[in-house]
Amino acid sequence: MEDIPITDNHIHVDPLNGEGPLKIAQIFHRVGGRVMIIPNKPSWTCGDPFNFKNAMDLVLRYVKEINSQTEVKAHALVGVHPAELSRLLDSGKDLETAAKMVLKGLDYAQKLVLEGQALGIGEIGRPHYEVSPEEWEVQNQIMVYGMELARDADCAVQLHTESSQEQQYHEFAQMAQNAGLKKHRLIKHFSGPYTDEKENYGLTPSLIATRDVVQQGVKKSKYFLMETDYLDDVTRPGAVLGPKTVPRRTLEFINKGIFSEEDAYKIHTDNYKRAYGRELYP
Ligand SMILES: [Zn+2]
Repeated sequence: MEDIPITDNHIHVDPLNGEGPLKIAQIFHRVGGRVMIIPNKPSWTCGDPFNFKNAMDLVLRYVKEINSQTEVKAHALVGVHPAELSRLLDSGKDLETAAKMVLKGLDYAQKLVLEGQALGIGEIGRPHYEVSPEEWEVQNQIMVYGMELARDADCAVQLHTESSQEQQYHEFAQMAQNAGLKKHRLIKHFSGPYTDEKENYGLTPSLIATRDVVQQGVKKSKYFLMETDYLDDVTRPGAVLGPKTVPRRTLEFINKGIFSEEDAYKIHTDNYKRAYGRELYP
């Protein structure tokens, strides 16, 4: 079991509002975690609202700190969260100006991927709350633009969206097809147990690692990733799962015979390799 490179596909670190990269990586490693995939946090949590470049540069720095000072292997995802567009509109920007700022941010994200500094693009997508039809349309256009950037960089995208079922998976799969992005490179962050290809239309589901979701998911297929969406924000304790959850769930499920050791190994190696197109460990 020592050999399984247990990976959390979506875990944030935040030294400004939480414990920070080194502390979280150490906690994760102690319970068996080996690989952390870390998307940048929204700009407003980084002390400089709408400075997307700053938010992305910060996550690169955190990843470097983890890789140089702990035994965890960390990878950065860079993107512009869909709530940034909503906040730009709230701040008085018109839709066109706001969208241009977000697109420019995504261009910078792609540049970081092409330079090998980031693993992929994310989290991008569309809001999980209701917005005007005009904003919704632009959010969708931005999402497709992000997929096109990923196609050209041959990298994965992590999608943040409203709570999604088969219908939404179908829609996202069509967007990927239109953008020319391989469907398995499109990763649905915070997914329910939609592991059957008939439900996820070939996208990669990243299951929120609760006992129920993972147990239901693994009954249908072994192709999925696991994540906590840990926020590392002391003002929002318990908003999502804690940083120990993916290693603990993996080991618990091996002990209970819900995963074989071989299944767990494949989930944490082959599945990631397929989604991201490269080995993530060591
Ligand atoms: Zn997130």
